[in-house]
Amino acid sequence: MEKILEVENLHVTFNTYGGTVQAVRGVDFHLNKGETLAIVGESGCGKSVTSNAIMRLIPDPPGKITNGAILFKGKDLAKYSEKKMRSIRGVDISMIFQDPMTALNPTLTIGTQLMEGLRAHRKVSGNKAKEKAIEMMDLVGISNPEERLKQYPHQFSGGMRQRIVIAIALICEPDLLIADEPTTALDVTIQAQILELFEKIQESTGVSIILITHDLGVVAKIADRIAVMYAGKIIETGTKREIFYDPQHPYTKGLLNSVPRLDLKEERLTPIDGTPPDLFSPPAGCPFTARCPFAMEVCNKVYPADSEITGSHKVNCWLQDERAKQLLATII
Ligand code: SF4
Repeated sequence: MEKILEVENLHVTFNTYGGTVQAVRGVDFHLNKGETLAIVGESGCGKSVTSNAIMRLIPDPPGKITNGAILFKGKDLAKYSEKKMRSIRGVDISMIFQDPMTALNPTLTIGTQLMEGLRAHRKVSGNKAKEKAIEMMDLVGISNPEERLKQYPHQFSGGMRQRIVIAIALICEPDLLIADEPTTALDVTIQAQILELFEKIQESTGVSIILITHDLGVVAKIADRIAVMYAGKIIETGTKREIFYDPQHPYTKGLLNSVPRLDLKEERLTPIDGTPPDLFSPPAGCPFTARCPFAMEVCNKVYPADSEITGSHKVNCWLQDERAKQLLATII
């Protein structure tokens, strides 16, 4: 499969009065052309920082990409100037944020906002831009598009506004769409409609999608592959089937046990006890040690390497690494 994005050893820090927060600590993953990769984890695990780093939207200062490569179609975005990134954002890579209300300008018509990016980046005529805007409104399921282009955001419901935000993100036909919690602000029915819309759009445009979410229900619906993040690291990756039916990392198992399942009638939900480590001074070893019921001496001291479960499934946990015993003998 052709890879459209490869993130290698990405590190992002934030300088604060209290010290330096190591928000993303050596993240590696890739995205294949035309697939949806979900990055999941609790809030503060670094998933949104990772997606903002891909867009080069980390405010510097206080933030900084301190190491790593972000290869988009083989070119390293981490090395691009701000000017060059401006020509990529919204054109080759687009991003959708959680709150559709703040993403839209209340003082401009929907049509103006839809056509803005197209006219700025693709240099098309007014008529062509209008034609494309109507086509996009159609694609995202908004009826009477010609009339509705003249309306303002407050004349649209929350779900409709999110459809507009998606249309704006896709109007320049980007190769990569990053959706950061795109359905969190919506009610459940509208959420389901928006997820269906993502599937339909991917089918018709072939866009590759990174979905950032804490919601495993959303992941189950549309992801092809899943990367689980914890304390600034990706601790397990696999296909949707592998992660849901054969999770290996105790944190992934904990996440799955803490969400309700419709197929199990009598089920006890088990929250994960404890809190993630302080990223001002993250531990040298596995960051899940303090919360993990299987933690061993070695876990606290050395970060576990990648263990391959299958060609598409890998995990960072000493339980899967037969060298744990030998290593323990050398460090005690
Ligand atoms: Fe638990 Fe150790 Fe595996 Fe971390 S490496 S998840 S502490 S068993």
